[in-house]
Amino acid sequence: MKKIGRLDRPDNFGSAKIFSNPILERISRTHISIPITLFLVISSVSLYFGMTATSIPFSFGFAILVLGLFVFTFLEYMMHKHFFHMEPNTPIRSKLQYGIHGVHHDYPKDKDRLAMPPFVSAAYVAVLHLVFTLLIGDYALYFLPGFLIGYATYLGVHYAVHAYNPPENILKILWKNHAIHHYKDPDTAFGVSSPLWDYLLGTLPKKE
Ligand SMILES: [Zn+2]
Ligand SMILES: [Zn+2]
Repeated sequence: MKKIGRLDRPDNFGSAKIFSNPILERISRTHISIPITLFLVISSVSLYFGMTATSIPFSFGFAILVLGLFVFTFLEYMMHKHFFHMEPNTPIRSKLQYGIHGVHHDYPKDKDRLAMPPFVSAAYVAVLHLVFTLLIGDYALYFLPGFLIGYATYLGVHYAVHAYNPPENILKILWKNHAIHHYKDPDTAFGVSSPLWDYLLGTLPKKE
């Protein structure tokens, strides 16, 4: 896999211009609290309908929610590994890879570019809701909140890892692994919200 980002510039506080159009450039910046709030509000509404408009027992619904969370962590890992870090071997792939993720590796401390713009997030939540409903019917009302809670956690952890110093507890591993992914070996530690899939699929950072 081709290395992306500037491994030699771990303290880069700069910001990149992705679009020459000033409106698109402004829209490409999002405060992290916006998508997190959006996902948690939609999760609450979805859960409310799951509990009031269906006959699904809450204990079973809760298991579906946990499943949604678990599925999200897997997709988080796969998207980061195979889509965000795709081989930039054609001009289109190269542009896409840079706009989606390469820019974050170049400017990891640019906090306005750690999430998609709100209308993009809202659009794919609508698509996810539709796809989950087609696949599993009313259970989607529990699955979607689990998935979105996973998503919100991922965004929150990713923001915290770049914005704050690591805590002196077990969560420190999240800071350590993501720093290795950015500044040492971009081919390891693709999981941001947890090292679970890196552990299961053999991409944990190598021990010195
Ligand atoms: Zn990456
Ligand atoms: Zn990062």
